[in-house]
Amino acid sequence: MPAITNKQQLLNQTYTALKKRYPLPTLETEQKRPLLEELIFAICREGTTHVDAAAAYDRLHKLFVDWNEIRVSTVQEVADVLRPLPNAGLRAGWIIGVLHAVFEMNYAYDIGDLEKKGLKQAAKQIARYFDSKDLDKLGLKQAAKQIARFKQVNDYAVAWVMQRSLGGHAIPLDTPTARVLQRLGILEDVDPDDLESSRGSIEHVIPKARGPEFTELISIHAKELCTEKDPNCPACPLKSDCPTGIENTKKPEKEKPEPKPKKSR
Ligand code: SF4
Repeated sequence: MPAITNKQQLLNQTYTALKKRYPLPTLETEQKRPLLEELIFAICREGTTHVDAAAAYDRLHKLFVDWNEIRVSTVQEVADVLRPLPNAGLRAGWIIGVLHAVFEMNYAYDIGDLEKKGLKQAAKQIARYFDSKDLDKLGLKQAAKQIARFKQVNDYAVAWVMQRSLGGHAIPLDTPTARVLQRLGILEDVDPDDLESSRGSIEHVIPKARGPEFTELISIHAKELCTEKDPNCPACPLKSDCPTGIENTKKPEKEKPEPKPKKSR
């Protein structure tokens, strides 16, 4: 199947080039978070980088006493702590909603038992925490409305905890990651409202062992060079393999010189 082989080759080249460009600390040495914490980290992480998400997540830990204090705070209060993360209000509403849902179900902030349920069951259960109907019941209508508008966020968070906590193979796909993969020609016809289908197609071509590093590298690249507006293709290590980069760095054809007017005698 040549199409897959080409995609695999391009992904391998992308991985190698980005790893040289953005050396990452070894991810295994990072302390493993309990499942609920990883879920909340995923909310901070979507659409941004590890460093920016970790800074916001650390502020949550420092400035609130515990998860319960966050649950009973207003969206505004939590959003103020998350800033400068983009969409801080949306994320804050979502975090509060998840904490409400978990607390209502367990009367505690612990969903560690999901790890024993097997991947499929765990993923289903996690998706339930993001169900807008649950949030509606809890009186968080505003948050529920916003979350329903950004349905792909749900899939990102589920994929994130599958990859980081549950030992499954998933590539969390957010808008910046999809943008880079689309420009590289690895993803085609991305529907921003259905990133789940696109996620399935790249999970076939990225080996599980490379998943976490690949996720980090693409997010950094999306922030540093392959930005939404005016990607810096001339400085990109992928410019000779990336169709968008090739197009953007093409030298303009030299204009033919105007013929010299003949001298009149
Ligand atoms: S060459 Fe340009 S469009 Fe392609 S990945 Fe690099 S920055 Fe993005």
